[in-house]
Amino acid sequence: MPTSEQQIIHRVSALVAADSVSSPDPRWDSSNRKVIHHIAEYAEGDGWAVEIQELGSGANTKANLIASLGDCCEAGGQPSGLVLSGHTDTVPFDAGGWDSDPLTLDERDGRLYGLGSTDMKGFFAVALEAAAAFDPKEFKSPLYLLATADEESTMRGARSLTRDYLPQARAAVVGEPTDLRPMRMHKGIMMQGVKMRGRSGHSSDPDLGNNVIDALPTLLAVLSNYRDELAQKFRCELMAVPVPTLNFGCVHGGDSPNRICGELDFSFDVRMLPGLEYQDVERDLNSRLVEIAALHGIDIEMRRLVEPVPAFEQAKDSELVIACEAASGHVADAVNFATEAPFLQSLGLETIVMGPGSIDVAHQPNEYLPLDQIQPAVETLRALIRRYCL
Ligand SMILES: [Zn+2]
Repeated sequence: MPTSEQQIIHRVSALVAADSVSSPDPRWDSSNRKVIHHIAEYAEGDGWAVEIQELGSGANTKANLIASLGDCCEAGGQPSGLVLSGHTDTVPFDAGGWDSDPLTLDERDGRLYGLGSTDMKGFFAVALEAAAAFDPKEFKSPLYLLATADEESTMRGARSLTRDYLPQARAAVVGEPTDLRPMRMHKGIMMQGVKMRGRSGHSSDPDLGNNVIDALPTLLAVLSNYRDELAQKFRCELMAVPVPTLNFGCVHGGDSPNRICGELDFSFDVRMLPGLEYQDVERDLNSRLVEIAALHGIDIEMRRLVEPVPAFEQAKDSELVIACEAASGHVADAVNFATEAPFLQSLGLETIVMGPGSIDVAHQPNEYLPLDQIQPAVETLRALIRRYCL
């Protein structure tokens, strides 16, 4: 095994051991500082300049790390540097389901098992190794390494970035596990809650209240008509599910058969195709909810359960897509999960999702990074660094 691969394994091992669960559930949520600390140490040791972006205060404080390599000021013209971007956090885990300790990297069967090994702490070790082959004095444009917080929960890290942190960047690779295939598109996601308020009362006389369950069929009909409308308007064959979806997730309301139901909570998600903005979905639905409220004489209020993640699309003829197709040997495709890509793209960067390992083993026990993808990942990133930075 070459020493460079040993160093990668050593680093992945330390990053996996640095627990960094992020979750909307405060019982699980923890700081990502240990991961940031390790990446900062490795990057500084390799000659990168490291900057930390603090994200709020409190017990589980979090941070983004932005490192840059190559002290080059591009005089005038377009910025042309490259960003290699990953998230530092993992999802919560069930240690009982694992065959080894999730926080201790276990090498067996040609795989590195550990929580976050592929999603996506391994990427940082691979990215640092890719950069180590270059003399930054020869860079015409800088290389950036970005390590974000809270991707698995709120995407607060990526939402907090500004262009000031990446002044000379033109393109970004989000190293989520895609088996090293470039992905230029994914759906967005929004999760909404609807509260319906009528009036409770004795069930013996319907006039003693206003039953919100009576309005539920109207709500469901309106939402399913809207879903059909979206499927008529938006279609993308690159996606496994080629239309936007709207899923009825849960409904809670009422307390007793002999009481008029006065209050009901309903929630759903919408997965948007590129071109369908969450603001438009909210506007469309709000105007329809006003009509349902008037029809049934009840109050209806819709709210975001989480901040939406926009859909993402990088044009298939853009420079980065063509460069990644050449470097990886695969035609760019679409993925079925949301990433930080739309937030980086909103900073004016051409953006692609491409990294080692498979999403199929992420977010579950026995997550692993296949050893035989490490060197190809390093080489693919080197090809991109050569193109953008030299
Ligand atoms: Zn991920």
